[in-house]
Amino acid sequence: MNPFSPSDSIRSWGGVLKAPHHVARPGWRSELSRLVLSGRQQGYRLLACGLRRSYGDSGLNPHEGLIDMTGLDRMITLDPATRRIRVEAGASFDAILQVIVRQGLFLPVTPGTRFVTVGGAIANDVHGKNHHRHGTIGRWVRRLGLLRSDGLELDLAPDDPSGLFQATIGGLGLTGVITWAEIELMPIASAMMDVENIPFGKLDEFFTLAADSEDAFDYTVSWIDCLSGGERLGRGIFTRGNHAGTGSILPDRGNTLLTMPVNLPGLAMNRYSISAFNALYVWNGRRKSGTARTGLHPFFYPLDSIGRWNRMYGRNGMYQYQSVVPAAVQKEATHDMLKAISASGQGSFLAVLKTFGDVASPGLLSFPAPGTTLALDFPNRGDVTLKLMGRLDAIVREAGGRLYPAKDGRMSAAMFQAGYPAWQEFAKYVDAGFSSHFWKRVSQI
Ligand SMILES: Cc1cc2nc3c(=O)[nH]c(=O)nc-3n(C[C@H](O)[C@H](O)[C@H](O)COP(=O)(O)OP(=O)(O)OC[C@H]3O[C@@H](n4cnc5c(N)ncnc54)[C@H](O)[C@@H]3O)c2cc1C
Repeated sequence: MNPFSPSDSIRSWGGVLKAPHHVARPGWRSELSRLVLSGRQQGYRLLACGLRRSYGDSGLNPHEGLIDMTGLDRMITLDPATRRIRVEAGASFDAILQVIVRQGLFLPVTPGTRFVTVGGAIANDVHGKNHHRHGTIGRWVRRLGLLRSDGLELDLAPDDPSGLFQATIGGLGLTGVITWAEIELMPIASAMMDVENIPFGKLDEFFTLAADSEDAFDYTVSWIDCLSGGERLGRGIFTRGNHAGTGSILPDRGNTLLTMPVNLPGLAMNRYSISAFNALYVWNGRRKSGTARTGLHPFFYPLDSIGRWNRMYGRNGMYQYQSVVPAAVQKEATHDMLKAISASGQGSFLAVLKTFGDVASPGLLSFPAPGTTLALDFPNRGDVTLKLMGRLDAIVREAGGRLYPAKDGRMSAAMFQAGYPAWQEFAKYVDAGFSSHFWKRVSQI
Protein backbone atom coordinates (compact mmCIF):
# COMPACT_ATOMS: atom_id res chain seq x y z
CA MET A 1 0.00 0.00 0.00
CA ASN A 2 1.25 3.49 -0.88
CA PRO A 3 1.90 5.32 2.42
CA PHE A 4 1.54 8.71 0.69
CA SER A 5 -1.90 10.08 -0.08
CA PRO A 6 -2.76 13.31 -1.86
CA SER A 7 -3.91 16.28 0.18
CA ASP A 8 -5.09 19.45 -1.56
CA SER A 9 -5.00 21.84 1.27
CA ILE A 10 -1.86 21.97 3.33
CA ARG A 11 -1.77 25.55 4.62
CA SER A 12 1.01 27.50 6.27
CA TRP A 13 0.27 28.69 9.83
CA GLY A 14 0.09 32.28 8.54
CA GLY A 15 -2.58 31.12 6.09
CA VAL A 16 -1.13 32.96 3.08
CA LEU A 17 0.22 29.87 1.35
CA LYS A 18 -1.70 26.74 0.46
CA ALA A 19 -0.53 23.88 -1.76
CA PRO A 20 -1.21 20.23 -2.62
CA HIS A 21 1.14 17.60 -1.18
CA HIS A 22 1.52 13.84 -0.96
CA VAL A 23 1.31 13.18 2.76
CA ALA A 24 2.36 10.16 4.82
CA ARG A 25 1.78 9.86 8.56
CA PRO A 26 3.84 7.01 10.04
CA GLY A 27 2.85 5.52 13.39
CA TRP A 28 6.09 3.63 14.12
CA ARG A 29 9.75 4.52 13.76
CA SER A 30 10.37 1.12 12.19
CA GLU A 31 8.22 2.17 9.20
CA LEU A 32 10.20 5.29 8.45
CA SER A 33 13.05 3.88 6.43
CA ARG A 34 10.73 1.98 4.04
CA LEU A 35 8.48 5.02 3.80
CA VAL A 36 11.36 7.27 2.78
CA LEU A 37 12.50 4.76 0.13
CA SER A 38 8.93 4.39 -1.15
CA GLY A 39 8.57 8.17 -1.49
CA ARG A 40 11.84 8.40 -3.36
CA GLN A 41 10.85 5.53 -5.70
CA GLN A 42 7.69 7.45 -6.54
CA GLY A 43 9.87 10.41 -7.49
CA TYR A 44 8.99 12.66 -4.56
CA ARG A 45 11.49 14.81 -2.79
CA LEU A 46 10.66 14.69 0.88
CA LEU A 47 10.22 16.93 3.90
CA ALA A 48 9.25 16.09 7.48
CA CYS A 49 6.78 18.29 9.31
CA GLY A 50 5.61 18.57 12.90
CA LEU A 51 2.68 20.57 14.25
CA ARG A 52 3.05 23.05 11.37
CA ARG A 53 3.44 26.14 13.55
CA SER A 54 5.94 27.68 11.11
CA TYR A 55 4.26 30.70 9.58
CA GLY A 56 5.50 30.58 5.99
CA ASP A 57 6.81 28.00 3.55
CA SER A 58 9.73 26.37 5.38
CA GLY A 59 7.43 23.45 6.24
CA LEU A 60 5.79 23.23 2.81
CA ASN A 61 6.92 21.02 -0.07
CA PRO A 62 4.27 21.51 -2.80
CA HIS A 63 3.55 18.54 -5.11
CA GLU A 64 6.23 16.53 -3.30
CA GLY A 65 6.23 14.25 -0.24
CA LEU A 66 5.46 15.48 3.28
CA ILE A 67 6.11 13.18 6.23
CA ASP A 68 3.85 14.19 9.10
CA MET A 69 5.79 13.14 12.20
CA THR A 70 3.11 13.78 14.80
CA GLY A 71 2.26 10.07 15.06
CA LEU A 72 5.79 9.40 16.33
CA ASP A 73 5.34 11.02 19.72
CA ARG A 74 6.55 8.47 22.24
CA MET A 75 8.76 9.12 25.19
CA ILE A 76 11.71 6.73 25.05
CA THR A 77 13.63 7.41 28.28
CA LEU A 78 13.72 9.98 31.06
CA ASP A 79 16.61 9.96 33.50
CA PRO A 80 16.02 12.49 36.32
CA ALA A 81 19.60 12.00 37.59
CA THR A 82 21.23 13.21 34.38
CA ARG A 83 18.16 15.33 33.48
CA ARG A 84 18.08 13.82 30.02
CA ILE A 85 14.95 12.96 28.08
CA ARG A 86 14.92 10.94 24.87
CA VAL A 87 11.77 11.24 22.77
CA GLU A 88 10.52 10.53 19.30
CA ALA A 89 10.74 13.60 17.11
CA GLY A 90 6.97 14.05 16.81
CA ALA A 91 6.52 14.46 20.59
CA SER A 92 5.17 17.91 21.41
CA PHE A 93 6.59 20.26 24.03
CA ASP A 94 3.10 20.19 25.54
CA ALA A 95 3.24 16.41 26.09
CA ILE A 96 6.79 16.57 27.44
CA LEU A 97 5.88 19.30 29.93
CA GLN A 98 3.00 17.21 31.24
CA VAL A 99 5.55 14.57 32.27
CA ILE A 100 8.62 16.54 33.33
CA VAL A 101 7.31 19.51 35.35
CA ARG A 102 6.05 17.38 38.22
CA GLN A 103 9.52 15.78 38.32
CA GLY A 104 11.05 19.22 38.93
CA LEU A 105 12.32 19.59 35.38
CA PHE A 106 11.67 22.08 32.59
CA LEU A 107 12.62 22.59 28.97
CA PRO A 108 15.87 24.59 28.79
CA VAL A 109 14.44 26.62 25.90
CA THR A 110 10.84 26.97 24.77
CA PRO A 111 9.21 29.12 22.10
CA GLY A 112 6.01 31.09 22.69
CA THR A 113 3.79 28.09 21.96
CA ARG A 114 3.98 24.61 23.47
CA PHE A 115 2.34 23.12 20.39
CA VAL A 116 5.58 22.41 18.57
CA THR A 117 7.30 19.09 18.07
CA VAL A 118 10.84 18.27 19.12
CA GLY A 119 11.83 17.69 15.47
CA GLY A 120 10.31 21.01 14.37
CA ALA A 121 11.96 22.88 17.26
CA ILE A 122 15.39 21.44 16.41
CA ALA A 123 14.99 22.03 12.67
CA ASN A 124 14.32 25.74 13.40
CA ASP A 125 16.73 25.87 16.36
CA VAL A 126 14.06 27.75 18.30
CA HIS A 127 14.75 30.37 20.94
CA GLY A 128 12.76 31.61 23.90
CA LYS A 129 12.52 34.46 26.39
CA ASN A 130 15.75 33.19 28.01
CA HIS A 131 17.95 33.45 24.94
CA HIS A 132 20.37 35.74 26.81
CA ARG A 133 20.95 32.89 29.29
CA HIS A 134 20.44 29.60 27.49
CA GLY A 135 20.80 30.35 23.78
CA THR A 136 18.80 28.13 21.45
CA ILE A 137 17.35 24.63 21.88
CA GLY A 138 20.17 23.23 19.73
CA ARG A 139 22.64 23.88 22.55
CA TRP A 140 20.75 21.38 24.68
CA VAL A 141 20.45 18.55 22.16
CA ARG A 142 22.84 15.80 23.24
CA ARG A 143 22.08 13.26 20.48
CA LEU A 144 19.66 12.80 17.65
CA GLY A 145 18.66 10.22 15.05
CA LEU A 146 18.73 11.38 11.42
CA LEU A 147 17.25 9.35 8.59
CA ARG A 148 18.68 10.13 5.16
CA SER A 149 17.02 9.53 1.81
CA ASP A 150 19.08 6.35 1.22
CA GLY A 151 17.10 4.82 4.11
CA LEU A 152 20.07 4.83 6.52
CA GLU A 153 19.66 6.26 10.02
CA LEU A 154 22.59 8.07 11.66
CA ASP A 155 23.12 8.63 15.38
CA LEU A 156 24.62 12.12 15.72
CA ALA A 157 26.11 14.02 18.68
CA PRO A 158 27.43 17.60 19.00
CA ASP A 159 31.02 16.40 18.47
CA ASP A 160 30.06 14.76 15.14
CA PRO A 161 33.13 15.28 12.93
CA SER A 162 31.12 15.18 9.68
CA GLY A 163 29.40 18.52 10.47
CA LEU A 164 25.97 16.96 9.87
CA PHE A 165 24.86 17.58 13.47
CA GLN A 166 25.54 21.33 13.14
CA ALA A 167 23.79 21.39 9.77
CA THR A 168 20.73 19.60 11.17
CA ILE A 169 20.31 22.05 14.08
CA GLY A 170 18.39 24.86 12.39
CA GLY A 171 18.65 22.87 9.15
CA LEU A 172 14.95 23.34 8.24
CA GLY A 173 14.40 19.63 7.67
CA LEU A 174 16.69 19.61 4.64
CA THR A 175 19.35 17.24 5.95
CA GLY A 176 16.89 14.38 6.52
CA VAL A 177 14.23 13.28 8.98
CA ILE A 178 15.02 13.73 12.67
CA THR A 179 13.63 10.53 14.14
CA TRP A 180 14.35 11.03 17.86
CA ALA A 181 16.33 13.37 20.06
CA GLU A 182 17.88 13.47 23.50
CA ILE A 183 17.64 16.81 25.29
CA GLU A 184 19.18 17.99 28.54
CA LEU A 185 16.49 19.49 30.76
CA MET A 186 16.86 22.13 33.47
CA PRO A 187 15.89 21.78 37.14
CA ILE A 188 13.08 23.88 38.64
CA ALA A 189 11.95 24.12 42.26
CA SER A 190 8.31 24.84 41.50
CA ALA A 191 5.81 25.21 38.69
CA MET A 192 5.34 28.88 39.47
CA MET A 193 6.92 31.98 37.99
CA ASP A 194 7.81 35.26 39.72
CA VAL A 195 7.00 37.88 37.13
CA GLU A 196 7.28 41.64 36.88
CA ASN A 197 5.52 43.81 34.29
CA ILE A 198 6.88 47.29 33.67
CA PRO A 199 5.17 49.69 31.25
CA PHE A 200 7.60 51.86 29.28
CA GLY A 201 6.86 55.00 27.31
CA LYS A 202 9.33 54.85 24.44
CA LEU A 203 11.97 52.73 22.76
CA ASP A 204 15.02 54.02 24.66
CA GLU A 205 13.40 52.92 27.90
CA PHE A 206 13.09 49.40 26.50
CA PHE A 207 16.82 49.20 25.90
CA THR A 208 17.59 50.50 29.40
CA LEU A 209 15.21 47.96 30.96
CA ALA A 210 16.69 45.12 28.89
CA ALA A 211 20.26 46.02 29.90
CA ASP A 212 19.26 46.36 33.57
CA SER A 213 17.36 43.05 33.63
CA GLU A 214 19.61 40.52 31.94
CA ASP A 215 21.81 39.67 34.92
CA ALA A 216 19.02 39.15 37.43
CA PHE A 217 16.27 37.67 35.25
CA ASP A 218 16.30 34.42 33.31
CA TYR A 219 13.44 35.51 31.07
CA THR A 220 12.80 38.88 29.45
CA VAL A 221 10.45 39.95 26.66
CA SER A 222 8.42 42.99 25.67
CA TRP A 223 5.17 43.59 23.97
CA ILE A 224 5.16 46.84 22.02
CA ASP A 225 2.50 49.02 20.49
CA CYS A 226 3.71 49.21 16.92
CA LEU A 227 1.06 51.71 15.82
CA SER A 228 1.94 54.55 18.18
CA GLY A 229 4.35 57.14 16.79
CA GLY A 230 6.02 60.43 17.71
CA GLU A 231 6.94 60.73 21.38
CA ARG A 232 5.34 57.38 22.10
CA LEU A 233 7.14 55.44 19.39
CA GLY A 234 8.01 52.03 20.77
CA ARG A 235 5.94 52.26 23.98
CA GLY A 236 5.10 48.92 25.50
CA ILE A 237 5.25 46.57 28.45
CA PHE A 238 8.47 44.92 29.59
CA THR A 239 8.06 41.53 31.24
CA ARG A 240 10.81 39.82 33.20
CA GLY A 241 10.69 36.73 35.30
CA ASN A 242 12.34 33.81 37.05
CA HIS A 243 11.20 30.36 38.10
CA ALA A 244 9.93 30.71 41.66
CA GLY A 245 12.04 29.14 44.40
CA THR A 246 8.97 27.84 46.26
CA GLY A 247 5.40 26.81 45.46
CA SER A 248 3.56 23.86 43.99
CA ILE A 249 5.37 21.61 41.53
CA LEU A 250 2.07 20.69 39.88
CA PRO A 251 1.69 22.56 36.61
CA ASP A 252 -1.38 24.69 35.92
CA ARG A 253 -3.58 23.04 33.32
CA GLY A 254 -3.02 25.52 30.54
CA ASN A 255 -6.40 24.84 28.99
CA THR A 256 -7.44 26.41 25.75
CA LEU A 257 -10.11 28.90 26.79
CA LEU A 258 -11.55 29.57 23.35
CA THR A 259 -11.04 28.18 19.85
CA MET A 260 -11.63 30.29 16.74
CA PRO A 261 -14.24 28.16 14.95
CA VAL A 262 -13.82 29.79 11.52
CA ASN A 263 -11.76 32.47 9.81
CA LEU A 264 -12.95 35.93 10.91
CA PRO A 265 -13.82 38.34 8.10
CA GLY A 266 -10.57 40.01 7.00
CA LEU A 267 -12.00 43.42 7.96
CA ALA A 268 -11.93 42.45 11.63
CA MET A 269 -8.19 43.18 11.64
CA ASN A 270 -7.91 46.81 10.66
CA ARG A 271 -5.96 49.81 11.85
CA TYR A 272 -8.77 50.87 14.20
CA SER A 273 -9.37 47.52 15.85
CA ILE A 274 -5.62 46.99 16.33
CA SER A 275 -5.12 50.52 17.72
CA ALA A 276 -8.01 50.00 20.10
CA PHE A 277 -6.56 46.68 21.23
CA ASN A 278 -3.14 48.22 21.76
CA ALA A 279 -4.54 51.12 23.81
CA LEU A 280 -6.44 48.62 25.95
CA TYR A 281 -3.35 46.46 26.38
CA VAL A 282 -1.26 49.44 27.50
CA TRP A 283 -3.99 50.50 29.92
CA ASN A 284 -4.29 46.97 31.30
CA GLY A 285 -0.49 46.66 31.52
CA ARG A 286 -0.34 49.85 33.61
CA ARG A 287 -3.09 48.53 35.84
CA LYS A 288 -1.30 45.23 36.34
CA SER A 289 2.23 46.61 36.53
CA GLY A 290 4.37 45.32 39.36
CA THR A 291 5.24 41.85 40.53
CA ALA A 292 3.05 38.77 40.56
CA ARG A 293 3.30 35.02 40.89
CA THR A 294 1.80 33.11 37.95
CA GLY A 295 1.68 29.62 36.54
CA LEU A 296 3.91 28.40 33.72
CA HIS A 297 1.31 28.51 30.98
CA PRO A 298 0.20 32.15 31.28
CA PHE A 299 3.84 33.23 31.39
CA PHE A 300 5.27 31.13 28.57
CA TYR A 301 2.26 30.46 26.35
CA PRO A 302 -0.39 33.20 26.62
CA LEU A 303 -1.44 32.74 22.99
CA ASP A 304 -2.10 29.03 23.45
CA SER A 305 -5.20 29.91 25.44
CA ILE A 306 -6.90 30.80 22.14
CA GLY A 307 -7.04 27.75 19.87
CA ARG A 308 -6.38 28.47 16.16
CA TRP A 309 -5.93 32.19 16.89
CA ASN A 310 -4.42 32.50 13.41
CA ARG A 311 -7.98 32.42 12.04
CA MET A 312 -8.49 35.92 13.44
CA TYR A 313 -6.72 37.21 10.35
CA GLY A 314 -9.41 35.95 8.00
CA ARG A 315 -9.03 34.05 4.78
CA ASN A 316 -6.20 36.18 3.43
CA GLY A 317 -4.10 35.22 6.42
CA MET A 318 -1.13 37.12 7.78
CA TYR A 319 2.59 37.46 7.35
CA GLN A 320 4.85 37.24 10.32
CA TYR A 321 8.02 39.30 10.16
CA GLN A 322 10.85 38.51 12.56
CA SER A 323 14.21 40.16 12.22
CA VAL A 324 17.37 40.41 14.28
CA VAL A 325 19.71 43.38 13.98
CA PRO A 326 23.23 43.52 15.49
CA ALA A 327 23.77 45.06 18.92
CA ALA A 328 25.95 47.87 17.57
CA VAL A 329 23.09 49.35 15.53
CA GLN A 330 20.06 47.90 17.33
CA LYS A 331 18.71 51.22 18.61
CA GLU A 332 18.78 53.06 15.29
CA ALA A 333 17.60 50.08 13.22
CA THR A 334 14.72 49.22 15.58
CA HIS A 335 13.70 52.87 15.72
CA ASP A 336 13.67 53.06 11.90
CA MET A 337 11.61 49.89 11.59
CA LEU A 338 9.03 51.03 14.13
CA LYS A 339 8.80 54.41 12.44
CA ALA A 340 8.15 52.79 9.06
CA ILE A 341 5.49 50.51 10.57
CA SER A 342 3.76 53.28 12.50
CA ALA A 343 3.74 55.56 9.43
CA SER A 344 2.23 52.78 7.30
CA GLY A 345 -0.69 52.29 9.71
CA GLN A 346 -0.22 48.53 9.35
CA GLY A 347 0.83 46.31 12.16
CA SER A 348 -0.61 43.98 14.67
CA PHE A 349 -1.39 43.52 18.29
CA LEU A 350 1.21 40.77 18.39
CA ALA A 351 4.43 42.75 18.35
CA VAL A 352 7.32 41.44 20.39
CA LEU A 353 10.71 42.97 21.06
CA LYS A 354 13.58 41.17 22.77
CA THR A 355 17.34 41.43 23.06
CA PHE A 356 19.30 38.29 22.19
CA GLY A 357 22.43 37.51 24.16
CA ASP A 358 25.81 36.44 22.85
CA VAL A 359 25.47 32.71 23.56
CA ALA A 360 26.53 31.19 20.24
CA SER A 361 23.96 29.16 18.30
CA PRO A 362 25.24 25.75 17.27
CA GLY A 363 23.49 25.47 13.91
CA LEU A 364 24.97 26.56 10.59
CA LEU A 365 21.67 28.28 9.76
CA SER A 366 20.53 29.25 13.27
CA PHE A 367 18.67 32.55 13.31
CA PRO A 368 19.57 34.22 16.65
CA ALA A 369 22.59 36.53 16.86
CA PRO A 370 23.60 39.13 19.49
CA GLY A 371 21.32 42.13 19.09
CA THR A 372 17.60 42.88 19.05
CA THR A 373 14.81 40.84 17.55
CA LEU A 374 11.47 42.32 16.53
CA ALA A 375 8.56 40.03 15.63
CA LEU A 376 5.21 41.19 14.30
CA ASP A 377 2.20 39.93 12.44
CA PHE A 378 0.88 41.85 9.46
CA PRO A 379 -2.61 41.07 8.19
CA ASN A 380 -2.17 40.22 4.51
CA ARG A 381 -3.45 43.20 2.50
CA GLY A 382 -1.59 42.27 -0.65
CA ASP A 383 0.78 44.77 -2.24
CA VAL A 384 0.74 47.37 0.54
CA THR A 385 1.84 44.76 3.05
CA LEU A 386 4.54 43.41 0.76
CA LYS A 387 5.82 46.95 0.14
CA LEU A 388 6.04 47.65 3.87
CA MET A 389 7.98 44.42 4.43
CA GLY A 390 10.24 45.42 1.54
CA ARG A 391 11.01 48.68 3.38
CA LEU A 392 11.76 46.75 6.56
CA ASP A 393 14.01 44.37 4.60
CA ALA A 394 16.08 47.34 3.44
CA ILE A 395 16.57 48.53 7.05
CA VAL A 396 17.46 45.04 8.30
CA ARG A 397 19.89 44.44 5.45
CA GLU A 398 21.55 47.81 5.83
CA ALA A 399 21.97 47.06 9.55
CA GLY A 400 23.63 43.71 8.77
CA GLY A 401 20.71 41.73 10.23
CA ARG A 402 18.58 38.84 9.01
CA LEU A 403 15.09 37.31 9.02
CA TYR A 404 13.87 34.12 10.72
CA PRO A 405 13.05 31.37 8.19
CA ALA A 406 10.48 29.81 10.57
CA LYS A 407 8.40 32.95 10.20
CA ASP A 408 9.08 33.78 6.58
CA GLY A 409 7.18 33.07 3.36
CA ARG A 410 8.48 35.75 1.01
CA MET A 411 12.03 37.01 1.58
CA SER A 412 14.15 37.22 -1.55
CA ALA A 413 17.08 34.89 -2.21
CA ALA A 414 19.40 37.92 -1.97
CA MET A 415 18.03 38.86 1.46
CA PHE A 416 18.45 35.30 2.74
CA GLN A 417 21.93 34.86 1.35
CA ALA A 418 23.12 38.22 2.74
CA GLY A 419 21.79 37.34 6.20
CA TYR A 420 23.13 33.76 6.26
CA PRO A 421 26.66 33.81 4.87
CA ALA A 422 27.08 30.11 5.83
CA TRP A 423 24.24 29.08 3.49
CA GLN A 424 26.55 27.66 0.81
CA GLU A 425 28.44 25.65 3.41
CA PHE A 426 25.04 24.44 4.66
CA ALA A 427 23.97 23.52 1.11
CA LYS A 428 26.67 20.81 1.03
CA TYR A 429 24.78 18.96 3.77
CA VAL A 430 21.35 19.17 2.15
CA ASP A 431 20.16 15.67 1.28
CA ALA A 432 19.33 15.64 -2.45
CA GLY A 433 16.22 13.58 -1.67
CA PHE A 434 14.75 16.44 0.42
CA SER A 435 13.33 19.83 -0.53
CA SER A 436 11.05 22.62 0.65
CA HIS A 437 9.32 25.56 -0.96
CA PHE A 438 11.43 27.86 1.19
CA TRP A 439 14.72 26.32 0.17
CA LYS A 440 13.88 26.31 -3.55
CA ARG A 441 13.06 30.00 -3.24
CA VAL A 442 16.06 31.22 -1.24
CA SER A 443 18.86 29.02 -2.59
CA GLN A 444 18.58 30.35 -6.14
CA ILE A 445 21.74 32.03 -7.39
C1 LIG B 1 2.30 31.35 18.70
C2 LIG B 1 3.67 31.03 18.22
C3 LIG B 1 4.76 31.47 18.96
C4 LIG B 1 6.05 31.16 18.52
N1 LIG B 1 7.09 31.61 19.28
C5 LIG B 1 8.35 31.32 18.89
C6 LIG B 1 9.45 31.73 19.69
O1 LIG B 1 9.29 32.37 20.72
N2 LIG B 1 10.69 31.36 19.28
C7 LIG B 1 10.89 30.62 18.15
O2 LIG B 1 12.06 30.29 17.85
N3 LIG B 1 9.86 30.22 17.38
C8 LIG B 1 8.61 30.56 17.72
N4 LIG B 1 7.56 30.14 16.96
C9 LIG B 1 7.83 29.32 15.77
C10 LIG B 1 7.83 27.82 16.12
O3 LIG B 1 8.46 27.61 17.35
C11 LIG B 1 8.64 27.08 15.07
O4 LIG B 1 8.10 27.33 13.80
C12 LIG B 1 8.69 25.57 15.35
O5 LIG B 1 9.73 25.03 14.60
C13 LIG B 1 7.39 24.87 14.97
O6 LIG B 1 7.48 23.50 15.28
P1 LIG B 1 6.53 22.47 14.52
O7 LIG B 1 6.56 21.17 15.21
O8 LIG B 1 5.20 23.09 14.31
O9 LIG B 1 7.32 22.35 13.14
P2 LIG B 1 6.83 22.60 11.63
O10 LIG B 1 6.35 24.01 11.53
O11 LIG B 1 5.88 21.53 11.23
O12 LIG B 1 8.19 22.44 10.88
C14 LIG B 1 9.21 23.38 11.09
C15 LIG B 1 10.47 22.97 10.33
O13 LIG B 1 10.97 21.79 10.92
C16 LIG B 1 11.09 20.76 9.96
N5 LIG B 1 10.77 19.53 10.67
C17 LIG B 1 9.66 19.25 11.42
N6 LIG B 1 9.77 18.01 11.96
C18 LIG B 1 10.96 17.50 11.53
C19 LIG B 1 11.64 16.27 11.74
N7 LIG B 1 11.14 15.31 12.51
N8 LIG B 1 12.83 16.09 11.11
C20 LIG B 1 13.38 17.06 10.35
N9 LIG B 1 12.78 18.24 10.13
C21 LIG B 1 11.59 18.47 10.72
C22 LIG B 1 10.11 21.13 8.87
O14 LIG B 1 10.51 20.57 7.63
C23 LIG B 1 10.21 22.64 8.86
O15 LIG B 1 11.33 23.05 8.12
C24 LIG B 1 6.26 30.41 17.34
C25 LIG B 1 5.15 29.97 16.60
C26 LIG B 1 3.87 30.27 17.03
C27 LIG B 1 2.70 29.79 16.22
